[in-house]
Amino acid sequence: MTNDEHARHKARMIKKKQHIDQRIADANESRGIIIVLTGNGKGKTTAAFGNVVRCVGHGYQAGVIQFIKGDWPCGERQLLQQTGQVAFHVMKTGFTWDTQDKAIDIAATQEVWKAGKSMLSNANLRLVVLDEITYVLRYGYLSTEEVINALQQRPSMQSVIITGRGCPQVLIDMADTVSDIQPIKHAFDAGIKAQEGIDW
Ligand code: ATP
Ligand code: MG
Repeated sequence: MTNDEHARHKARMIKKKQHIDQRIADANESRGIIIVLTGNGKGKTTAAFGNVVRCVGHGYQAGVIQFIKGDWPCGERQLLQQTGQVAFHVMKTGFTWDTQDKAIDIAATQEVWKAGKSMLSNANLRLVVLDEITYVLRYGYLSTEEVINALQQRPSMQSVIITGRGCPQVLIDMADTVSDIQPIKHAFDAGIKAQEGIDW
């Protein structure tokens, strides 16, 4: 690198640092946030659990509601339950195309939502994950308005992560951070089976 290039690089970095420092100084509000992880690509649930690990690593308590999932083994749940810092509530009946019974699905949704509401009013929980909640909202098994009310009334330092494809626009509008994960490729489309440790 010539002296000239070195000086130009340094000037650019100084400018960049000033810009970043200014943005950090401007962000002076401290409160819990709503994060939406949506889109058809792989990584929504794993990202949500990455955030739970981050939270628990700092000594906080977290809560996870797993809509849709069923209570088959799931690596992240098996590990995080051992910490004693993460409360789990799983919708026991599994996928809606397995039960094929709308009344059972609605009852199971309402049951698991009770636990969700209780987590959203528990100030000891720094983070609450509502995993795959978008599906029960889209099917109308749970009222979006009710979820919005519970989100609005939650403790001020509590953050919430909502995951699932096709997130309703009202929740996107309400959220503070929204990521739309898009599939560029997925191994399943090439005929590769879902794998323990990778997909669950
Ligand atoms: P993950 O749990 O791996 O983070 P996800 O939460 O983003 O995935 P979901 O829509 O909840 O994705 O689907 C759950 C399962 O479907 C996972 O096993 C995941 O690998 C798989 N999956 C995700 N995206 C795709 C896709 N585009 N095509 C096929 N299978 C997918
Ligand atoms: Mg998921």
